[in-house]
Amino acid sequence: MCGIIGVSQHKDAAQLAYSGLYALQHRGEEAAGIATYDGHNILIKKQPGLVADAFDERAINYLQGDSAIGHCRYSTTGSSNQKNIQPFMVTHKNTPIAIAHNGNLTNTEALYRRLEEEGSIFQTTMDSEIIIHLLARQRNGSIEDAFVKVLAQLEGAYSLVFLVEGTVVGARDPRGFRPLCLGTIDGTYMLASESCSLDLIGAKFEREIEPGEIVFIKGKEIKSVYMPERKTMKKSHCIFENIYFARPDSDIFDDNIYQVRKRLGEQLAREFPVSDADFVMAIPDSGNYAALGYANELGLPLEMGIVRNHYIGRTFIQPTQLLRDLRVKIKLNPIQSVLQGKRIVVVEDSIVRGTTSRSRVESLRKAGAKEIHMRISCPPIKSPCFYGIDFPDSNELIAANKTVEEIAGFIKVDSLKYLSVEGMLKAMSLPENFCDACFTGNYPVQPPTNRSKYLMEHPYHHNTGG
Ligand code: 5GP
Ligand code: MG
Repeated sequence: MCGIIGVSQHKDAAQLAYSGLYALQHRGEEAAGIATYDGHNILIKKQPGLVADAFDERAINYLQGDSAIGHCRYSTTGSSNQKNIQPFMVTHKNTPIAIAHNGNLTNTEALYRRLEEEGSIFQTTMDSEIIIHLLARQRNGSIEDAFVKVLAQLEGAYSLVFLVEGTVVGARDPRGFRPLCLGTIDGTYMLASESCSLDLIGAKFEREIEPGEIVFIKGKEIKSVYMPERKTMKKSHCIFENIYFARPDSDIFDDNIYQVRKRLGEQLAREFPVSDADFVMAIPDSGNYAALGYANELGLPLEMGIVRNHYIGRTFIQPTQLLRDLRVKIKLNPIQSVLQGKRIVVVEDSIVRGTTSRSRVESLRKAGAKEIHMRISCPPIKSPCFYGIDFPDSNELIAANKTVEEIAGFIKVDSLKYLSVEGMLKAMSLPENFCDACFTGNYPVQPPTNRSKYLMEHPYHHNTGG
């Protein structure tokens, strides 16, 4: 995962990109970067860490120019090498180009092979660099044609922003796996992964970029071209954005995420009610909205049985077992006076490996909860994601290897139920537009061939652009 932003012809381009990235921080905490165009050159600042840590006043002052793109990067299993932080920039035939990418390509192996045979030399291990190489080969003809031809060679998931001299280009793959929104601020157009980013900087949400649409933005001017593939491909928005990843105050995929999550909770309550529980509570924050829907549907009280500490940084040192144990507890603390002797329904948005859920349940027991009925607002996650969600190989996905009964035993709850696939889809306003491969194994795009070999041996795989 990753968050991306683009600002065109605004005097405060770098500041807006910086502020906008702040609201996309949940999409990637590993590193952040901004590139601006000052009329001659592209300037870049990028650093590991949170957006707030990656830029100081000097960095923002250095980023001169009225157009900018930005990126925040999700930690992936591979190296967090400085070279792999985005935006990624090259100069080709005197034209500087920068790219920032959210998503994951699935045909990188074939593209690398072809490009390297033709003489390309790669500086990074990010799949996004491939896109730049393809663009460099297409510099004859119009810029619009070049982008259409290059993107047609990519398979998988991508929402992209480019800075090509002063033009900001935005693109979404023809299935629309990842979000990308168009906004206006002070009369100029801009792009951001999620609408919550536009809200923060006072930009107006205009619309989402269409799957297969490529927009060319120069301030007030905007031009769209469309990939022919969009006509034949089914929309495949990532349903896990709605369940967990996107922010609840965002409007993406033709819906509001808060409302979607509340509906997931309502549906979960209809499928698996515990009508005589003392109360419903969430594992904060990601479970909050589904818990609200669940409690409302059954007319049960909603309690906040766990307090979240908001000051936990990624930097909490954990070299010893004592500190590692503390780290788990530092984030969430159950409230004994709320939980003591109670029969509770705990609503959680998802279970991936099951390990944090197990430790949360243990702490609820220690705080005195008498019965714990866990309800999950999505179906069991059984298949890895090849389109940008950091779901591990099947052998680490608990639901790929255990039955629901066995998972209940592992995390030590009195009962465990997951929302059905049909129920999940029912909570979407346009259910036919989603990819649900992590639950159903129905992959809309062929997963990389030879994938287990590829996962272990291919040096590029672990470094998805975003
Ligand atoms: P588990 O019990 O599987 O170890 O962890 C479940 C928790 O992980 C849930 O609270 C869920 O919100 C969270 N979660 C689900 N997907 C992701 C993800 O992609 N990244 C992170 N950091 N947490 C996730
Ligand atoms: Mg969570």
